Amino acid sequence: MTRRFDGDRLVVATHNHGKLEEIRALLAPYGLEVTSNADHGLPEPEETGTTFEENARIKARAAVAATGLPSLADDSGIEIDALGGRPGVRTADWAETEAGRDFVLAMRRAHDELTEIGAPEPWRARFRCTLVLAWPDGHDEVFPGAIEGRIVWPMRGDGGHGYDPIFRPDGYDETFAEMDRWAKNRISHRADAFARLIAGSFA
Ligand code: IMP
Repeated sequence: MTRRFDGDRLVVATHNHGKLEEIRALLAPYGLEVTSNADHGLPEPEETGTTFEENARIKARAAVAATGLPSLADDSGIEIDALGGRPGVRTADWAETEAGRDFVLAMRRAHDELTEIGAPEPWRARFRCTLVLAWPDGHDEVFPGAIEGRIVWPMRGDGGHGYDPIFRPDGYDETFAEMDRWAKNRISHRADAFARLIAGSFA
């Protein structure tokens, strides 16, 4: 049985303002006081896990340890089948440069590796998002989300973020970067994980 959340305070373990606002809006019907890492002056822990679940748990546990409050964290990325699931937990790392993150570089790397090994199309891929809701007594619940699709080349669209211009979800003609933001947010890996969180612990 999934443990229900019946507290009145929750720390969202993120420094990303956009994510925090999205989560606040989703949890608004449940009357919680939602705070974030920034409100508690918490640093972001190093993501040393080898899975999305491990990294989300590291973030959630760090926030619980520092605040004594239950905490919710997420971790996400893209898996490309022909690359053995990479970049996976290294999704953001592929974009790192000395001058900051460059996702065009990261998308080019994905495409270059696929063509170098002669991977046959379609290049199957999925975005994953894993949420971990952690309580101070050590219990936690894990809510995975995913959206299946394929890598396309060249990049298409200028909306979204990250790898959106090269990801076309199954059943759609547009890439995530060509889709209306609200349309993407309804079908995304994050929406899938949040639907499971709400159904499991809040509804
Ligand atoms: P994190 O969960 O904030 O650590 O994000 C990991 C990385 O996954 C981000 O930096 C993005 O590059 C990538 N990512 C996660 N979700 C999406 C998405 O919806 N579109 C494009 N890239 C994403």
